[in-house]
Amino acid sequence: MGATAACRWSRPAAGQRGAAGRLVHGTIRVSGWNVAQVNQNVSMNGTASRLWPARHRIVVDDRLRAGERLWAVGDVTGHGAFTHVATYQAGIIVRDILGQDGLMADYRALPRVTFTDPEVGSVGLTQAQAREAGVAVRVGVADVASTARGWIHKAGNAGVIKLIADADRGVLVGATSAGPNGGEVLGALAVAVHGEVTVERLRHMIYAYPTFHRGIEDALRDLS
Ligand SMILES: Cc1cc2nc3c(=O)[nH]c(=O)nc-3n(C[C@H](O)[C@H](O)[C@H](O)COP(=O)(O)OP(=O)(O)OC[C@H]3O[C@@H](n4cnc5c(N)ncnc54)[C@H](O)[C@@H]3O)c2cc1C
Repeated sequence: MGATAACRWSRPAAGQRGAAGRLVHGTIRVSGWNVAQVNQNVSMNGTASRLWPARHRIVVDDRLRAGERLWAVGDVTGHGAFTHVATYQAGIIVRDILGQDGLMADYRALPRVTFTDPEVGSVGLTQAQAREAGVAVRVGVADVASTARGWIHKAGNAGVIKLIADADRGVLVGATSAGPNGGEVLGALAVAVHGEVTVERLRHMIYAYPTFHRGIEDALRDLS
């Protein structure tokens, strides 16, 4: 388990914020700790942070609060060991510390990309996770090699676009994109899952020819 950073902040007294809500006083101490060190540190100072040693993560709420004036961010929160998770969470923590409004943490459309050749990207729920969650799962698959761009690409065109839809709500809850530029194709799928764009609407979208992401249209047609 890698180390992560935790941020501790002294809340300023009332009236110590700037007109625009800017923090004008306070101390921020950023430390990198491994989980064992966090565990020891937290238990030593009596902070009411809930730890989950068996899973090696610090339990945080949707503002990344781990306890009184204690936030945890990154790998140690167990929400995905990715740079984009850590930076996403950091933005929420900063807003919370500054007392600014904003959306809470939402991992429904968490994207993951493995930079192998070909790239393998996925977002949201897998088929198994969706079934486990009681979703009325529908699956649609497209063979990247069979698309126009796959044909143009020739060697190295193997890949797949797989969509996981919730038939009751008519939206995508997850997707996988493996193949040439699989991580980039995932962008469109992440928008669909994050924005809960309906399958019907996605079917009526115009997909540029001859792109790899045009395979999404084939996978939508295959949804059953
Ligand atoms: C080889 C590799 C490749 C990766 N590739 C990707 C990728 O392509 N895309 C992606 O999204 N994610 C990738 N990751 C994961 C990504 O790096 C982490 O998810 C991300 O860095 C987590 O941020 P963090 O702040 O939780 O921890 P870290 O970035 O690990 O930051 C923790 C910091 O604390 C410091 N530290 C540790 N112990 C102490 C201590 N006792 N005192 C003071 N400082 C300490 C460390 O030196 C480090 O700077 C990769 C990870 C690895 C190892």
